[in-house]
Amino acid sequence: MPLRKAGGPALAEFDLIILGAGAAGMLGALAAHQRGLRVCLVDPHWDVANNLAISGGLFPAAGSVLQAQAGVHDSPQIWLDDLRAFAGDSVNESIAHSVAHALPEVMDFFTSRLNAPIDFLPDVVSPGHSRCRFHSTKPAGGRSLHESLRQLIAARSNIQVCPRPIGLERLTTGFAGSDGQSQVQAPHVMLAGGGFGANPDWVAQHIPAMRGALYNGAAHSDGSTMALGVSWGAQLWGMDGFQGQGHTNPGGRTRLGMAIPTMGGILVNRSGLRFVREDIGPSALAPWVMAQAGGQALEVFDAHIAAGLAQHSAYQEAWRASQVVTAEDVPTLAAKAGVDAQGLQDTLAQVNAIAQGLATDALGRQHFARVLSGPFLASWVTGALSHTQGGLLTDGDGRVRDAKGRWIHGVWAAGGCAAGLSGRGAHGYLPGNGLAQSFGLAWRMAQALATTA
Ligand SMILES: Cc1cc2nc3c(=O)[nH]c(=O)nc-3n(C[C@H](O)[C@H](O)[C@H](O)COP(=O)(O)OP(=O)(O)OC[C@H]3O[C@@H](n4cnc5c(N)ncnc54)[C@H](O)[C@@H]3O)c2cc1C
Repeated sequence: MPLRKAGGPALAEFDLIILGAGAAGMLGALAAHQRGLRVCLVDPHWDVANNLAISGGLFPAAGSVLQAQAGVHDSPQIWLDDLRAFAGDSVNESIAHSVAHALPEVMDFFTSRLNAPIDFLPDVVSPGHSRCRFHSTKPAGGRSLHESLRQLIAARSNIQVCPRPIGLERLTTGFAGSDGQSQVQAPHVMLAGGGFGANPDWVAQHIPAMRGALYNGAAHSDGSTMALGVSWGAQLWGMDGFQGQGHTNPGGRTRLGMAIPTMGGILVNRSGLRFVREDIGPSALAPWVMAQAGGQALEVFDAHIAAGLAQHSAYQEAWRASQVVTAEDVPTLAAKAGVDAQGLQDTLAQVNAIAQGLATDALGRQHFARVLSGPFLASWVTGALSHTQGGLLTDGDGRVRDAKGRWIHGVWAAGGCAAGLSGRGAHGYLPGNGLAQSFGLAWRMAQALATTA
């Protein structure tokens, strides 16, 4: 409730101030509001696309009611098993279990409590996931997911939105700040300003292999809320981990999405030759693609696969941006794309033999979903840095830890600002980890805070 000190600016008291209105901040605000907490949601870049809006919008919720209704047997434990098999010892065990178990609850919150247009997507397959378990808007896309959450926030007058910067101070009693027009204070703060992908100095320091690499994430992921946590004594974890994107069209404006290899597509270099098991995941693919001549590779698939991408917003945007070439036969495709025709012809013959069980793949790929046949499609891709995974170390409820592992009282974090679920370099990032952590940890924070505040 806004108060006014005699002669002074308006003073508003809240239970929680959230810095950052992205995936973590908005879910945190909605969940805390649902638990009866008074929330101030601060974002000085309110009208600029954040990572949630840029993202593919796909998040796993293993064991959700909708997934079970669709007949898919899954559970938080099976997802955890997949995560550990994929990411090995880079899993952040401080949060993995609690995030896995939070996600079906988040989905239930979206559908039963908020009536949000978010659904289970039975046709989205992904490397590293043993089940179909992605959820999103239909068609899947970060922009529509972002828009849905913004509408839910706007409909709740008790969530106070502040689209201006707030200089926040940590006091013995909590946190206080001013945006120049009014003062706000609260006993708790949630740091949710995203990762540091847009901060070239930090990228060079923590992820030297991606120094100067194409960055296709949000402009304001500059690590500012992470730095605030550090200034209060927070411990950092996993700073070299990042979400790479090996299906990014050159220039970074569009991308193909992660599904094409799982549906049977391949990647070749300018000689028309494959160079990697394409199904290692979009993040791990990025350094492989960057290592090819010109830092690019050609993603090759066919009309049958393209038809299965009708619900994939990222691919549809790339298509509309004329990033995809089509051809009835392989020589025409090679000529249009500018790769060696004989090399591509031989590669496709080999791949189709493997798909028919007549040969094995020298690169170790086990699964080729189909025999590729004309009409063919292809699109040039490069590797990009999408989102960093290192950040403030928290417990499974999002409480920020200091160097000795103690909670910095009143300080919570989730999303890119907090340490992610897994990842060393690009290899440990399992698709969906970003939003899974953002939503899961923010949800847990709200439940824990409701019993603390
Ligand atoms: C190209 C791309 C594709 C992706 N696809 C997927 C996907 O399909 N599935 C998935 O799980 N993940 C995906 N991700 C990752 C996902 O987008 C992020 O993990 C997620 O958005 C992180 O949420 P966040 O709230 O931390 O950050 P954001 O969603 O970026 O929100 C952070 C907000 O904080 C604000 N902010 C910044 N500094 C401050 C400050 N000092 N004070 C107040 N506010 C501040 C920003 O303006 C922004 O609105 C993708 C990312 C990219 C770039």
